[in-house]
Amino acid sequence: MRILLSGVLLGFSLLACTSQSKTPPPSDRSTSQDTVDVLDASQLDAFGFSSNDVEVEERTIKRNESLYLILDKLDFSPREIFSISNKAQKLVDLKSMRPGQRYHIYTESDTVSSPDRIVWQKNEMEYVVFDWQQDSLEVYKAVRPLYTETSVTSGTINNSLYQTISHNGGSPLLAQKMAKIFGWQVDFFSIRSGDSFKTLYENRYVDDEFYGVGDVLAAELRHRDKLFRAYYFSSGEIEGFFNEEGESVQRALLKAPFEYDHRISSPFSKNRMHPTLNRRRPHNGVDYAAPYGTPILSTGSGVITRAGYRGASGNMVQVKHNRTYQTAYLHLSKFAKGIRPGVHVDQGQVIGYVGSTGRSTGPHLHYEVKRNNRAINPLTMDLPSSTSIPDSMMAEFKEVKKAYEQQLDSQGGEAGEEGVITYNMSGR
Ligand SMILES: [Zn+2]
Repeated sequence: MRILLSGVLLGFSLLACTSQSKTPPPSDRSTSQDTVDVLDASQLDAFGFSSNDVEVEERTIKRNESLYLILDKLDFSPREIFSISNKAQKLVDLKSMRPGQRYHIYTESDTVSSPDRIVWQKNEMEYVVFDWQQDSLEVYKAVRPLYTETSVTSGTINNSLYQTISHNGGSPLLAQKMAKIFGWQVDFFSIRSGDSFKTLYENRYVDDEFYGVGDVLAAELRHRDKLFRAYYFSSGEIEGFFNEEGESVQRALLKAPFEYDHRISSPFSKNRMHPTLNRRRPHNGVDYAAPYGTPILSTGSGVITRAGYRGASGNMVQVKHNRTYQTAYLHLSKFAKGIRPGVHVDQGQVIGYVGSTGRSTGPHLHYEVKRNNRAINPLTMDLPSSTSIPDSMMAEFKEVKKAYEQQLDSQGGEAGEEGVITYNMSGR
């Protein structure tokens, strides 16, 4: 893992160096201004504007601050603001202006005139320009280019995949994505020391600045000496992760209703001594001991059929996944936003939070799976695979798979061998 980590750090510091060399420090810029007539790329800012003889002030939109208030503070008259807002509204939803977003005010140096230009950054990528340089206002939207590079990372798990990746400075999101891919086939929470992984995934950059982890393209997981492989494939109606034979690795339900490991405090049982009632009754689900407030995930996509308080069940959510399967989540402290009967939920979506409502002795989740209205053991149930790649697309799939395998192998070996990150920049 150490080798892997140094690969990550080296990669990022190299990129940081690149961005520094593109933007010289302000002192360099002011001394070279007299001698440099031709603009070179180093004098253009992140939005492609020249920084010669211009003062740029960066501000952050505050709570309750609207375009009106921002322009008012810059001494625009109410009439001007009205016409600016009118013009802008036709192009961009001004309600998407939110606190925390940044904007940049460009003013000619050594003047007390009103701004030449305002750039409102909607997010890392999208921005809106208000430009007065031609005497009349121009408003337009633009996007900073997003670059993706594919990276390979691998390692041996010390305790859990999440801890191994995040403890070593990797993005927890990558662990989450891996868990989503393999969460169907492998009891992901039984992953332990000695298991290993290898993954080909995207990192995204805007102007050499790390923007986030993109999609996982291929992944290998060696779990208890069994090797699982998954390749991302999308064509026409088909989309998802498939094994080498083109079978979907996705099942109808996730193995557990949590993102990370939680101890099972009471298993599914046909004849259990009930902890508070003190008599034998079937336990129709699995109890997970989890801290109060832990997010609970819907194990499959479907429609909420119940979301409310029901006696001994306390706050409970029930999801109908298809004609055969339903799942239920009991004793919640509260429901996630928007969770009510009739609402569609995606697999892995947070539907509520662990609590101890109803007949319960402490914070835990009672999780139930019903097949044709009969409770079954979620830990041992056998679920069918989802759609496989049709024969007509197999040739295409094999091409994609081969390309991913070559990238995975560029590092040599199968899952388990420590590796460095490889870079492969590609514009988008
Ligand atoms: Zn229970």
